[in-house]
Amino acid sequence: MALSTPEEYVRRVSSRRVKFYVAGEPVDDPLEHPVTRPVVETLKRVYELTLREEYRGILTARGLDGDEVSRFLHVESSVEDLVKRVESQRIVNYHVGNCNYRCTGHDGINALYAATYEVDEKHGTDYHRRFTEYLRGLQRGDLVVATAMTDVKGDRSKRPGELRDSPLSYVHIVERRRDGIVVRGAKMHISGAALADEILVVPTRALGPGEEEYAVAFAVTPDTEGVYFVSSWNSFDALRKISRDLGVELDYPVPYGHRSTYLVIFDDVFVPRERVFLAGEAEFTGKIVEYFVAHHRAAGAGCKAAFADVVLGAAALAADANGVLGARYIQQKLAEIKRHGEAAYAPGLAAAVKGWRHPSGAYIPDFTLANIAKLEAVDHLKEAIAAAAEIGGGITVNAPSARDLAIPGLGSLVSEALKANPTYSPEDRLRAMRLLQLWTAGPHLVGLVQGGGPPATQWVALNRLVREQVGGLIENAKRLAGIGG
Ligand SMILES: Cc1cc2nc3c(=O)[nH]c(=O)nc-3n(C[C@H](O)[C@H](O)[C@H](O)COP(=O)(O)OP(=O)(O)OC[C@H]3O[C@@H](n4cnc5c(N)ncnc54)[C@H](O)[C@@H]3O)c2cc1C
Repeated sequence: MALSTPEEYVRRVSSRRVKFYVAGEPVDDPLEHPVTRPVVETLKRVYELTLREEYRGILTARGLDGDEVSRFLHVESSVEDLVKRVESQRIVNYHVGNCNYRCTGHDGINALYAATYEVDEKHGTDYHRRFTEYLRGLQRGDLVVATAMTDVKGDRSKRPGELRDSPLSYVHIVERRRDGIVVRGAKMHISGAALADEILVVPTRALGPGEEEYAVAFAVTPDTEGVYFVSSWNSFDALRKISRDLGVELDYPVPYGHRSTYLVIFDDVFVPRERVFLAGEAEFTGKIVEYFVAHHRAAGAGCKAAFADVVLGAAALAADANGVLGARYIQQKLAEIKRHGEAAYAPGLAAAVKGWRHPSGAYIPDFTLANIAKLEAVDHLKEAIAAAAEIGGGITVNAPSARDLAIPGLGSLVSEALKANPTYSPEDRLRAMRLLQLWTAGPHLVGLVQGGGPPATQWVALNRLVREQVGGLIENAKRLAGIGG
């Protein structure tokens, strides 16, 4: 069995010296820092869930050596596997109520496994062998992999080759040596990256002739010389830190936190040859992106269905604390959230069921249905979030600090004012509202819309499909309308 434990993961994190910063300060102990600790807690929980007998065969699969490995490190090799992958996202994200920080690793691995096979077939290179060896190591160690795809990109109206005076905009090769390459550039929004065991870097877009230096895929450990991480910092990070500093952790009671992402800077980083999986073959970058997003958008349906389950639970808890859970209108709103969650889930499962076998033996979800899954997830989850805001009431964003319950001479009155359903203490009502606040007024909505690529990229694919098919569809319509005999 090649499954790690929460304790082993913590030992690995503690033994590394990663150069990373939160709000301008270096992080000395990520296990204690209020912004990074929830990421560690999330990953510990994911390891714990993976070891549970009830999830065997869903959160686990048979790896390259025939051992039981984490599904997050598995190259999916049947339609049944693809379905389990979508289901696994729902299970894990339900338990942590957040990103699981291992999902992009899976999708990067599956994309590179297939794409490196194609490069070798065409050019006689040995990227696929290298990548398979690397993957074997990941599976044996059950390592956390974060895929860094999104470049910082600079001026979006320009292609990478037009941004040569903006050296960080796209990660690129600055030097080729016999034993490896040197890379420069920056990736952004990389979920959980500083707390991962491995960073898997892949191109962010399809590239063409003249853009070969940007066609690069490789892996580094986060403590590699020249790699730096800067944490995302939003109002919930500030709330988390301030509430810890003020001793009112009840103001941010969520142990697994909200999504934590990183700006990752590669400042002339040497990558040894065995860890380089693409170096100049620009024509294959489109395939890497396509295979990655097919996996990410299909499995994202499981992720969003889990989020809908969490939103439904949080909204129902808030309604109960307010004393209105039994109200007919509230019940109707809860049912609507349920509908939105299942409607987001269904196209992801469909993309898996309609998955196809790549010549490498890997299975890849249907691209069109995966794009639909992403668009549906955005539309349905934003409705679910709006319904939750309606259910929770104004206290969802207007609750006072738990510290106010202890104001000398006034705290007891504040406490009295916060009473609703008598089976909930004022503190527990505040906890319920903080959880709902995270979902209704936190960073999740942007994550939902942008994660896996903004909707515009799915519409581009659908518009292309319509252009390809519209001639045949018109012919069919003519036949049905009796035009042209
Ligand atoms: C919470 C969260 C977690 C994430 N996790 C990861 C991760 O783990 N790994 C990873 O690699 N990425 C991750 N991402 C990144 C995500 O894939 C990107 O945010 C997304 O692809 C959009 O890129 P951007 O943020 O640079 O937006 P921008 O490129 O700035 O796009 C903003 C808007 O401008 C439009 N636009 C951009 N360029 C053009 C153009 N040339 N012409 C016309 N319109 C344009 C877009 O369609 C979009 O609507 C994450 C994002 C979020 C929010």
